[in-house]
Amino acid sequence: MKQLSYIAMACALVLTGCATTDGGGASGLSAVSSALSSTSAGGSGASKTENKVGAVLDVFKAVTVSDEELKSVALQYRAYGDRTEKLAPANNKYSQRLARLTRKHVNEDGLKLNFKVYLSKQVNANATADGSIRVYAGLMDMMNDQELLGVIGHEIGHVKHAHTMGAMRTAYMASAGRKAVAASGGAAAKLADSDLGELGEKLLNSQFSQSQETESDDYGLAFMQKHKYNVKAMEGAFRKLASLGGKQGGMDQMLSSHPDPGARADRMRDKAAGGK
Ligand SMILES: [Zn+2]
Repeated sequence: MKQLSYIAMACALVLTGCATTDGGGASGLSAVSSALSSTSAGGSGASKTENKVGAVLDVFKAVTVSDEELKSVALQYRAYGDRTEKLAPANNKYSQRLARLTRKHVNEDGLKLNFKVYLSKQVNANATADGSIRVYAGLMDMMNDQELLGVIGHEIGHVKHAHTMGAMRTAYMASAGRKAVAASGGAAAKLADSDLGELGEKLLNSQFSQSQETESDDYGLAFMQKHKYNVKAMEGAFRKLASLGGKQGGMDQMLSSHPDPGARADRMRDKAAGGK
């Protein structure tokens, strides 16, 4: 179960529309405003008023979750995943292959990235806001080096465009862990494993939006062009994913059904050929 919830965090996750700090802040502010009006219109009992004031403070703290706190949470969540998944040791053949492919990308496009392998047969990859990218052995078995670089470029796109930060913000705001941190003053933002597991459940139920996926596909293609990799490899990667049909099991939705991998392959083919 823990493993399942962790996997959910995958790239495939999508959030509808709140990838940016500004967006989250705006909706949070309107929630504060609505909570405040309900307080002024509320009943006269002291405990009722206290509850409402508490609710207002709760919403206010949600609004004020900083990027620094979110990065700290992402780091803790990733460390939890690395403890609970089968993390490949550095001398493992999968690790060595991934290290060879990503060595020149640990400082990519202003980001500080780290890449590791999970020894699972899942066809999956994911990224978190702290710059950690994890690739599953099942995906590595399926893809050649250039295709794998295309998937990696796509994952870097989710970090660069702050999709991963938006996903974490939404999940964290709704989590029991955030409430515990807020109640303790919020300084340390130290989460228990049980909170991190619950955070994973929230992430499991979220997805990246189709537009975020498209944005990351474009980033991946630009990444391939920038480094003079095979620009046709992204199309190839999506064709392979499409061939799995609905049987890919735990595969990141982002890489599979959402959006349709066949259509994404066509789009990558056309863009690589210089089309729109
Ligand atoms: Zn994606």
